[in-house]
Amino acid sequence: MNIPLVLGNWKMYKTCAEAIRLVQQIKSGLPSGWVEVGVIPPFTAIAAVSRELADSPIALGAQDVYPAAEGAFTGEIAPPMLAELGVHYVLCGHSERRHIRGEDDMFVGRKVAAVAEAGMSPVLCVGEKLEERDHDEAEAVLLRQLSVGLAGFKSDGSAGLVVAYEPVWAIGTGRVATPDQVAAAHRFIRDWLSVNLKMTNPPRILYGGSVKPENVDSLYNIPEVNGFLVGGASLKADSFLGIINIYG
Ligand code: PEP
Repeated sequence: MNIPLVLGNWKMYKTCAEAIRLVQQIKSGLPSGWVEVGVIPPFTAIAAVSRELADSPIALGAQDVYPAAEGAFTGEIAPPMLAELGVHYVLCGHSERRHIRGEDDMFVGRKVAAVAEAGMSPVLCVGEKLEERDHDEAEAVLLRQLSVGLAGFKSDGSAGLVVAYEPVWAIGTGRVATPDQVAAAHRFIRDWLSVNLKMTNPPRILYGGSVKPENVDSLYNIPEVNGFLVGGASLKADSFLGIINIYG
């Protein structure tokens, strides 16, 4: 059975100095439970946070990547540049990139393949918008995001895959999906993965969307949930640790 994973996505928050302070606080309050923890700072703080994590079990992540090993792509960051800094997890297709930056499934799929190729673990973010859920299209959206997003992923490789189910209407809105909605979506994703990716170690499926210490209890008991991708509540050590502690 896979160890649960809790990742904190710091989005476009935290200067280097703030990031170092936050990661020191997280390190000193980390419980000794059966859980893996990772932090995902903005690019500018990755090197500093990596140094700070040198003696710690906390994993390092990146919020995005460009799907090429190098090239004339001004402003972009290549997978080997992240791997060199000790990055283990890379978010691919976070809804804020899909819907604010207009990234499509094909582009997200190229990122997933490039991250795995560089020996890191892609975290493929999937999830429907509110109007798609209201029109009963949630599963069709997940199906498209999974099949196109994972088309180039070689499941026989050593790279671990993580999938994060993050309904767009629950991200940063304070509105959390109900346990039944989360369980149904996770079951759908799990079934798709087991039919389409023959992996000996099944990928972890995280839930993300307004997870806080106050609501994590109701989500923790869902057997299909293998951990959480946390945004807003990961920006303060006490709330992030409050979520992690559910596994403590
Ligand atoms: C996220 O950024 O992936 C996220 C789930 O954000 P929040 O927890 O703030 O909804």
